[in-house]
Amino acid sequence: MKVSALNLKTLKETPAEAEVVSHQLMLRTGMIRRLTSGIFTWMPIGLRVVRKVEAIVREEMNAIGALELLMPAVQPAELWRESGRWDQYGPLLLRMRDRHERDYCVGPTHEEVITDVARRELRSYRDLPISYYQIQTKFRDEIRPRFGVMRSREFIMKDAYSFGRNAEELGASYDAMAGAYTRAFERMGLTFRKVDADSGEIGGSRSQEFHVLADSGEDAIAFCPADDYAANVEMTPAPAAADRPEASTELARVDTPGAKTIEDVCKALDVTADRIVKTLIVAGDEGPIAFALRGDHELNAVKAAKLPGVTTPLTMAEPAEIVKATGAPPGSVGPVGLEIPLFVDHAAAELADFVCGANDKGVHLTGVNWGRDLPAPDSVDLRNVVAGDPSPTGAGALEIARGIEVGHIFQLGTKYSDAMGATVQDEDGSALTVTMGCYGIGITRIVAAAIEQNHDDAGIIWPEPLAPWTVILVPINAHKSDAVREASDALYADLLAAGVEVLYDDRDARPGAKFADAELLGIPHRITIGDRGLATGDFEYRYRQAENAEMLKRDDVLRRVGAA
Ligand code: ATP
Ligand code: MG
Repeated sequence: MKVSALNLKTLKETPAEAEVVSHQLMLRTGMIRRLTSGIFTWMPIGLRVVRKVEAIVREEMNAIGALELLMPAVQPAELWRESGRWDQYGPLLLRMRDRHERDYCVGPTHEEVITDVARRELRSYRDLPISYYQIQTKFRDEIRPRFGVMRSREFIMKDAYSFGRNAEELGASYDAMAGAYTRAFERMGLTFRKVDADSGEIGGSRSQEFHVLADSGEDAIAFCPADDYAANVEMTPAPAAADRPEASTELARVDTPGAKTIEDVCKALDVTADRIVKTLIVAGDEGPIAFALRGDHELNAVKAAKLPGVTTPLTMAEPAEIVKATGAPPGSVGPVGLEIPLFVDHAAAELADFVCGANDKGVHLTGVNWGRDLPAPDSVDLRNVVAGDPSPTGAGALEIARGIEVGHIFQLGTKYSDAMGATVQDEDGSALTVTMGCYGIGITRIVAAAIEQNHDDAGIIWPEPLAPWTVILVPINAHKSDAVREASDALYADLLAAGVEVLYDDRDARPGAKFADAELLGIPHRITIGDRGLATGDFEYRYRQAENAEMLKRDDVLRRVGAA
């Protein structure tokens, strides 16, 4: 491909609307263009990368014997009513109506459609196990589309579904998928981790996520170097409460005017956050519910939403509701004398002589003790684990990393096959409900995740398997030098003939501008052709990550880029 034919329009400035580096670089290189909120056009350069990701995923799916099909994006509501999800899925589902007043949705996922395929196509236990997959556009009306294609409303997913006779066959399909995912992400040159995940509302038995490690990741992952433990922080258990020290101070009321946050209270009372019990109020099915946590700990929304009576998804109470339930505004709420249900986190239950809100505006209590000033609680696990917490296996201390979820594998069981009657005839002639798994990879999210993990100040640093082109040729002042133009044309022809994906910067632009674009685009190998080098038969070669360029003979250059 010649740059003159590419309509390359790179931007020097960082677009103001892009918060994360991948989104910035995708806009600056012209890989994507936004059409409207959370909906993007994949421009030619970006699409080349999407196709690379798809090709690797497709090869690994085929290698484990999964069968590719392509299901419709538009799905009839009847199927979703059969599974019960038409009512459950909520506003994430984009719904519409046709000219006959029939309801449809744009598929956010395809369990219903594939289960319909299965109940029609699978007849006998001999048809099992079987896995199908597709690479297809999904739509989810995300509340907060952000970070470009990382969390978009329209995106490309590889989704696969397995059907087996029983839990053993499901386990085997699941393991095969996990292996294929691992090989695919390895081949993409990404640093990733497979972690245990919350199985969520779908209520399957086992679920794992694949995360590309990057500081900008939305998820926190807990892992323990001393063993193989790795899990999404969403579902990493925190240790149970240890014994609490004896009370040693008197209960006191202190004025804390204007102190609203934990930081304010720390300053006002000269205490550290781990001596404070903070109280959060959430919506419950029968009225508000309170959670008490240590001041330096974060509420874990997944754990909290599983507690009895708590509304799912977890919804924080509005300030007016908090005042009504506790008599105090948010910054002054505390567990003493509270008249609504209270769940106390293990770590908060371990404290003696602690500080908390007094349920009176601008007032806090100090020297508070469970079992003396308020009932001793049966504590629960409510918080996110932090670095240094013990690993749930007991083998060592946890570390925390940030991750971008690029894949998710899930043992569904018979949820959909039961609801939709997907059965086959078993060996003894009886009807056997098939056991399902579902397996997703965020194809377009991977493109962004790869950039988050691989970039520098000059631009993208593509892992070679994902690069839109492997080599970029940069002639210097070819419009003034026949020798440079001829040598460049000949090298371009030889690289193409060798099957190398090469981008030829044939523009009459300044060398500096061409180099900047080559680095911004992140092409792994750059070959510069200039009069000075040609005089001695040399080409300048630079690997994108390398500190310096080297002068190489033509054959060595070809060898370096895999063309000889
Ligand atoms: P998340 O927790 O990030 O919302 P999810 O659990 O809803 O993801 P799945 O239903 O497991 O996602 O979908 C499979 C894969 O599709 C995810 O692992 C992710 O890589 C990708 N994906 C999900 N939602 C989006 C989105 N809004 N934009 C881009 N990719 C997405
Ligand atoms: Mg997920």
